[in-house]
Amino acid sequence: MEQKIDIKSLTLDELTEEMVSRGEKAFRAKQMYEWMHVKVAGSFAEMTNLSGKFRQECAERYEYISLEIVQVQESKIDGTRKFLFALPDGNVVESVWMKYKHGNSVCISSQVGCRMGCRFCASTLDGLERNLLPSEMLDQIYAITRYTGERVANVVVMGTGEPMDNYDNLLRFLTLLTDKNGLHISQRNVTVSTCGLVPQMRRLAEEKLQITLALSLHATTDEKRKKLMPVAFKYSIKELMEACSYYFEMTGRRITFEYSLVGGVNDTDEDARELIELASPLCCHVNLIPVNPIKERDYVQSDAGRIQAFKNKLEKNKINATIRREMGRDIDGACGQLRRKHVEEKRHVESVFGN
Ligand code: SAH
Repeated sequence: MEQKIDIKSLTLDELTEEMVSRGEKAFRAKQMYEWMHVKVAGSFAEMTNLSGKFRQECAERYEYISLEIVQVQESKIDGTRKFLFALPDGNVVESVWMKYKHGNSVCISSQVGCRMGCRFCASTLDGLERNLLPSEMLDQIYAITRYTGERVANVVVMGTGEPMDNYDNLLRFLTLLTDKNGLHISQRNVTVSTCGLVPQMRRLAEEKLQITLALSLHATTDEKRKKLMPVAFKYSIKELMEACSYYFEMTGRRITFEYSLVGGVNDTDEDARELIELASPLCCHVNLIPVNPIKERDYVQSDAGRIQAFKNKLEKNKINATIRREMGRDIDGACGQLRRKHVEEKRHVESVFGN
């Protein structure tokens, strides 16, 4: 059978071409695009200014990605909400909604699982299942908007998955998300986080978008980084820093370094000194993340005093640094923990009671 077109992943131009080729007027495409990407409609049935017959035909002809909410957890501490969504093929992904004074942020997943293998991360424990489609990335944001009724101002691609390992879909997602005919989220309010796939970082630089690139650095020497992140065997810190400079050169955008502090592993004064050396030549910002311990590994958080001392040392050396506020600590906040719990429970039920 012919694969149905994933209509929510089409640009307005592509959708127009598709409609015109079906003998429809071009403005029909504009109407549908607005329903999908501005009014975030959950189905063709909601597109009430289109005829019933036309909507019916569309439902037969196209795949309309609309994620189903499996679970919502709300933090009693800060109102952060964690969403578990089911994809059409039964896989699940998670997204996080955070309420800030300067607007609401959504953190989305870019893949089902991940194959990067970072030692402290729960998302990668079962490897990669598959890439997410542009529509599946978008609809995490749209479904949350439908649910909360509030506008999303900022989007961070920092959930499960390595976005640069799903580059083409990521780029299409970014194009649709920031399109002036769509939800029109400002490029400056979008951050893409990578464990450091150098060729894709350079490719992204050449797109000359105004999005923020965040590099998950987490260690200051190749030797130390290899212990935490297998990707360090492939790309050296030197290559990463060159790619970061290139990104800044091409886009004028300040780089963010993410640095998860792991007690006794990467949080010493020497680590801080080495980080200053790496960061000083670049226009960057350091985001310190107290590591969120996962039960499968025995990494522990640096204590609060150590984290503050680390930050002070950076600041004294004119490196702009913040400590990431821990949002939703009471709701399986760390990357991939909610999804993992769900998959484990399902597996357990199946092993006891059969499929
Ligand atoms: N693959 C991308 C984006 C997803 S992870 C990347 O590596 O950047 C988002 C951020 O959370 C990364 O900086 C990642 O290293 C960090 N992270 C993952 N698990 C963590 C944990 N248990 N505690 C603290 N930070 C974690």
